Amino acid sequence: MGITREQRSVLRQLWRDGAQSRSGLHKLTGVAPNQVGVAASVLLEQGIVRECQARPSSGGRPRVPLEIDPAQRHIIGLTIWPGAVSAARLNLQGHLLGKPLAREVHGDPGRLVDAAAALLNKMRSEQTIGVGVSVPGFYDPKSRHILFGMIVPGQPPVSLSPVFEQADGLPIVVENDMHALAARWLLTHRAEMDQDVLLVNISDGALGAVLLVGGRPNRGCVSSANELGHMRYLADTSTCYCGQTGCLERIFSTEYLQHIGGDVGHGGALMERSARYDPDDEPLATLYGYLANGIVNVVNFIRPHRLVLVSELTRYPGVCDLLTRSIRSRLLGELVDRVRFDLWDQPVSHSAETAGWLALADLYYEGWHGASAGYSS
Ligand SMILES: [Zn+2]
Repeated sequence: MGITREQRSVLRQLWRDGAQSRSGLHKLTGVAPNQVGVAASVLLEQGIVRECQARPSSGGRPRVPLEIDPAQRHIIGLTIWPGAVSAARLNLQGHLLGKPLAREVHGDPGRLVDAAAALLNKMRSEQTIGVGVSVPGFYDPKSRHILFGMIVPGQPPVSLSPVFEQADGLPIVVENDMHALAARWLLTHRAEMDQDVLLVNISDGALGAVLLVGGRPNRGCVSSANELGHMRYLADTSTCYCGQTGCLERIFSTEYLQHIGGDVGHGGALMERSARYDPDDEPLATLYGYLANGIVNVVNFIRPHRLVLVSELTRYPGVCDLLTRSIRSRLLGELVDRVRFDLWDQPVSHSAETAGWLALADLYYEGWHGASAGYSS
């Protein structure tokens, strides 16, 4: 049985604001009282919600609050990455259950998919209600192929069919790893669905971006992150894996920092130099200038409600301040006070735990799966 609109409204409300009685759910969601009752009994029967201790009410029956049940059902997160696959179980409140399983796989990318399918087989049980799969680069949801060439040049597309077969009727959401990160941000920050959010993931030599429009990933012509890393400048960088030079993620790297003559009194990798930020480190400031410009161009173009910078850089106040000041000073004036800035220190996007949030996002927020997953018990 698929999940109904009323059930989803109830679930999203419980996710966002915690335990609530049936009458409270009616008031908060606008769903009619009898329909809240029907939705609640189905979700209770499926083990997706549970009843908490009754609270006394003024007259009439005591109110029994409902909450998301963390104990009965779970979802599975699966990640496929060049060289390794891993899988994890998360309960419906987003907590990791047990240790993730990981396998190293070398050679033909088809073997990665087979290994992922085998992990899914090992992890799934009667209590599994959905699967989130994160993949690198581009994914074509129509043909169900990962376009590996974006990450490993020369590799042909690889079919995800073995994973779909193993899911065997379970709702499955496949997205780029940056979308998985965005799903995790959206749910853990209880963000408003009606806001457009630009999330930018910054590390040494790798930049990712993702745009959420109305709480869902920007679809485009192929499923992928928004390729901020390949925004190009007239800069003399090494050749990017995309085949071009001057890509922003080649500029924002230790390699380019050293190339522009940064070693005089300022040795070390990009992140080390960022950690002990010295305002006289001009090559480092040049890199942050490029990065700020790239982000400013995108923000001016999109006009998001929120800009979320995701990086270990958020631990280093000096460069963090430099970057946010540079962005603000270059934004169109009308946007400066309208775009909200957030910083999020989050570990790597391509973990099985993060992939699991794709399935949770589809359960609570709907529309994360291009062809609508439709949850069943
Ligand atoms: Zn590139």
